[in-house]
Amino acid sequence: MDSAHTQYDTIIIGAGLAGLNCAANLKERGFSSLILEAQDDVGGRARTDSVDGYRLDRGFQVFLTAYPEAARRLDYRQLDLQAFVSGALIRVAGRFLRLTDPFREPLSLLPMLASEVAPLSDKLKVAYLRQRVMSTPTQELFKHPDKSIESLLLGDCGFSETIVERFFRPFFGGITLDKTLSGSSRMFEFVYKMMAEGSVAIPKYGMGQIAAQIAAKKDPAEIRLNTKVKAIDRANMQVELESGEVFKARSIVVATDGPEAHRLLPEVEKPASRQTTCLYFSAPRPPIDDAILVLNGDGDGPVNNLAVLSNVSPAYAPPGMSLISLTVLGETGPIEEPRLIESVLKQMAHWFGEEQVGEWRHLKTYRLHHALPDQTPPWLEPPTRSVRLASDNARQSIYVCGDHRDNASINGALASGRRAALAICEDLKLAMV
Ligand SMILES: Cc1cc2nc3c(=O)[nH]c(=O)nc-3n(C[C@H](O)[C@H](O)[C@H](O)COP(=O)(O)OP(=O)(O)OC[C@H]3O[C@@H](n4cnc5c(N)ncnc54)[C@H](O)[C@@H]3O)c2cc1C
Repeated sequence: MDSAHTQYDTIIIGAGLAGLNCAANLKERGFSSLILEAQDDVGGRARTDSVDGYRLDRGFQVFLTAYPEAARRLDYRQLDLQAFVSGALIRVAGRFLRLTDPFREPLSLLPMLASEVAPLSDKLKVAYLRQRVMSTPTQELFKHPDKSIESLLLGDCGFSETIVERFFRPFFGGITLDKTLSGSSRMFEFVYKMMAEGSVAIPKYGMGQIAAQIAAKKDPAEIRLNTKVKAIDRANMQVELESGEVFKARSIVVATDGPEAHRLLPEVEKPASRQTTCLYFSAPRPPIDDAILVLNGDGDGPVNNLAVLSNVSPAYAPPGMSLISLTVLGETGPIEEPRLIESVLKQMAHWFGEEQVGEWRHLKTYRLHHALPDQTPPWLEPPTRSVRLASDNARQSIYVCGDHRDNASINGALASGRRAALAICEDLKLAMV
């Protein structure tokens, strides 16, 4: 169909959230674009598969309703967001302890928490931290000195080892995919603020609905699926596909993940990768009744966190059935699947009993090698990276967006896409003068 003879204002490589939001912003400003996507659908790392009537997000992830860039782009009512109960159920020393609403009502932590999950003094520190991040604008949070989350919590905030080990490590380890908490304190404060100001939720029909909603605004002919880009010919402003086809454009946006952006454009810094594995099980009855995150508070066993997603959104499972997601952090590549399943089920049998877990049926395992870019300090210094590629050739209008240009989140990916679109509009308009 298309070839080098068809010229677009912009070609976008990658239909993840960054690429889609770039296209949406361009369209609103009157510029056409064509998205070339290697996979068979849009969404990139935020996709949902349908398996036997279950909705399986490609790795456990959640949407924070306070994300400013998401609020700017998405119709939340149409996504029909289903919220988690705030707080967490923490597995400690053979029991489940409930941490109630540490973000909204820090002073209402249960007495049980004060005595068993953490010392009483931590309650006040949680309240103070919450107050501090809520009263600080997001841009200011990203100007704070960037250090490891662990040193912020234990040093600056003065939390006890106990609450760090039992709550912060599994909770923020689960978010940053790193239990050592070596990730960015700026990112921690941003996420903490988002959780304090909104809900933790999933769209009724899966995380993939976020990308689907943005893509629905585009003419389907402007998104080519199953179309992998092999290389960019910068001198001729052409994109070469693996199929041999060639596309010409006035500007080209690389909206892939960081490692692939580096392959296509070597001067883009290659981020290291954070890995995670998500195992899904179906069950005739849920192991817990609440829409709450379950955390491994004493670190024994491979599973860091668990959620019964059908408790949050019943549409994730067929009627009468439950969908359970288990997250194992880090690289599980060398572990064969039967052994991995056996080890997580052994841990779960410890938590919920042999009889209950004996009823679980394995649905699918997702091993994600590049789930997130590793943004260990000083990666977020500066907090955003340029979306324009430095060039000594005025004919080259090459841009790059994706979560590796902002911060590793849905919000960061969307924001980078908008920044790229604005840069293109500015440059194309200047070129027309
Ligand atoms: C398991 C997991 C848990 C997460 N948890 C959360 C969470 O709870 N909250 C949160 O906010 N964020 C979370 N994230 C992060 C969030 O999902 C990502 O930051 C975001 O989706 C990245 O979007 P992107 O557009 O930058 O990149 P991607 O989603 O990676 O999109 C890039 C697209 O480019 C395509 N592509 C790559 N190479 C080529 C090529 N050569 N030719 C054509 N197309 C190509 C890919 O197929 C892909 O569709 C999580 C991510 C994962 C994987």
